[in-house]
Amino acid sequence: MPKLELTVLGSGTSMGVPTLGCHCAVCESTDSHDKRTRPSVLLTYAGRNVIIDTTPDFRSQAMAAHLDRLDAILYTHAHADHIFGLDDIRPYNLKQKAAIPIYGSEATLKVLKRSFAYIFDDAPTDSSLPGVELITIDGPFTLFGAEIVPVPAMHGRGQVLGFRFGTAAYLTDFSSVPESSKELLRGLEHFILDALRYTPHPMHSNVEQSLALVEERKPKHAWFTHICHDLGHAVTNAKFPENVGLAYDGLHFEATI
Ligand SMILES: [Zn+2]
Ligand SMILES: [Zn+2]
Ligand SMILES: [Zn+2]
Repeated sequence: MPKLELTVLGSGTSMGVPTLGCHCAVCESTDSHDKRTRPSVLLTYAGRNVIIDTTPDFRSQAMAAHLDRLDAILYTHAHADHIFGLDDIRPYNLKQKAAIPIYGSEATLKVLKRSFAYIFDDAPTDSSLPGVELITIDGPFTLFGAEIVPVPAMHGRGQVLGFRFGTAAYLTDFSSVPESSKELLRGLEHFILDALRYTPHPMHSNVEQSLALVEERKPKHAWFTHICHDLGHAVTNAKFPENVGLAYDGLHFEATI
């Protein structure tokens, strides 16, 4: 069975942890697990590196992961904390002498084109621009030999795409999951999912809701991500069932594709 290595590049919410100007116990924690950059994961398989989202922390995340090449980007949605590192792919364009395919829903690609107008407006420039090839996701697709299954979910009033690849799935920034998508989350070895905090939030699943989804879908291991400064790593993990933990920057595991 082909293997996929998954690395959590960032496990924090949109503002990151520590949060600027905050002096709470988690923001001032000396535990490295409490340092959370914006949410993203790296999938490595078949000699390829695929990332999900390009956060404003992408450059430092890529350095921490020793990312020497980048082969594709999957976008969950086009919120600022998931896209605004895109300009930093330029060194890979130069090194690989190629555009990088980027995958997203029609709505996501539309916002990307607007948010990065300088990439797409064809205005004459002497600056280097990110080289990208836009590919619209309209169902499961094959990427470097692996089947990638989009898992649509609601994110407040908008939509987000999670992704399933083999026995692992990544679903961030959701407030609810339709039954049709829950079907796609059966028999998982590893499930990384949004759990912002304990308090309910209109755009995000909270700890209680995510624990309920885990209980329902029964993955072997569940990892919570997009975590805000309400959740200290050690103290929160101590309260969870054995198969559930808070993800952290640098978390690394193998899955089967
Ligand atoms: Zn987000
Ligand atoms: Zn804080
Ligand atoms: Zn979002």
